[in-house]
Amino acid sequence: MTSPRIRILATGGTIAGSAGSAIERGYRPGQIGVAELLSAAQALGLDARFDGRDIAAIGSQDIGWAHWNALHMSIFDALLDDDTDGIIVTHGTDTAEETAFLLDLTLQAGKPVVLVGAMRPADAVGSDGMRNLSNAVRVAGDELAAGRGVLVVMSDQVFAAIDVRKAATGGAEAFRGFPRGPIANVTPTSLDWFGPPDRTGRGARFAWPDGLPRVSILTAYAGMEPDAVQCALSGGAQGLVLAGLGQGNAPTPVLDALAKAGVPVVRSSRVDQGSVDRNLEVDDDALGFVAARGLGPAKARILLQVLLANGIADPVRMQAEFDRR
Ligand code: ASP
Repeated sequence: MTSPRIRILATGGTIAGSAGSAIERGYRPGQIGVAELLSAAQALGLDARFDGRDIAAIGSQDIGWAHWNALHMSIFDALLDDDTDGIIVTHGTDTAEETAFLLDLTLQAGKPVVLVGAMRPADAVGSDGMRNLSNAVRVAGDELAAGRGVLVVMSDQVFAAIDVRKAATGGAEAFRGFPRGPIANVTPTSLDWFGPPDRTGRGARFAWPDGLPRVSILTAYAGMEPDAVQCALSGGAQGLVLAGLGQGNAPTPVLDALAKAGVPVVRSSRVDQGSVDRNLEVDDDALGFVAARGLGPAKARILLQVLLANGIADPVRMQAEFDRR
């Protein structure tokens, strides 16, 4: 068998971060370009052929439309390129779930597309970057990785974009999945899928838009005042996501203000994991809300943006998309 041809698209993050010393606490993300990442990967003797592009050199807290647009275009090109078997995106961990989900909603499932990051900078003692990158190469070079949507590789585990979230601020094992946990275990020399691909042959779920509308997330808390809603609307929000209490709850005056907001409202939860379902404590039918189901606030916002950008604003249609896996 010939070695898989992997394209690496670098965006920055801690995997490309440098502290200047193996034991320094502070560091700067996005200091190492794709050429250096490629030569480090090549030096490991991995069974793959690489080429690469620098898309950005940022901490992923600064990612936005311009980077996403460039990244989407580059992945789209790589999907059409007969000389590329799989695509790896090196990315910061803070917003990996948002980028992965946005790509997942807008790319066909034809070739493996794998996001990978690190929790420790490249020059830190015990850095996880090269381990994670080696694992990502293993996944991106595997035919069975295609047809599963965009994947995220961290700490010897593979997650589907729709499930994954960053669940800890520190430590190499910072990622979790919901409702599915990891869908495979991976090391640089092994890859064990827990089931067959579930999206083989599927096209992109949504067209790539010309831009993403402004959607704000409002986090609920005991005693929250309803003026947060007006504040978001006057800032230009065309949709609102409630990061609600428990099952997507909020104080009654806030729910009343949301019902009158005049823009689509999606109820999600500030709780780390779990589903937000329709009409449990909140009467979604009467108030015109959409329930985020298994998506946390960050991913609910991405889906709402993509729906609005594709002209889908009817709550029933929207709910069907939030219900879909
Ligand atoms: N702030 C960094 C980023 O998201 C954190 C990381 O990569 O782990 O780019």
